[in-house]
Amino acid sequence: MELGRFEVGRSDPQSLPLDHAATCEYEHCLQPIYYSEPCWNLDGEKFCSAVCVAKHFGANKITAGQE
Ligand SMILES: [Zn+2]
Repeated sequence: MELGRFEVGRSDPQSLPLDHAATCEYEHCLQPIYYSEPCWNLDGEKFCSAVCVAKHFGANKITAGQE
């Protein structure tokens, strides 16, 4: 059975920054945030997702009763 090659990473030239408006403030994310893209703003700090906001402030997802 031929599995072929696995392409690792994305190298789509179309995905280069067009209107880079901000960078997610969560230190382990740092994703670019583009103009007109929805994002989370907290006192001027921009986050790409609510999960990044939570993690930035030290929250971590757990299973209740197993912590
Ligand atoms: Zn983020």
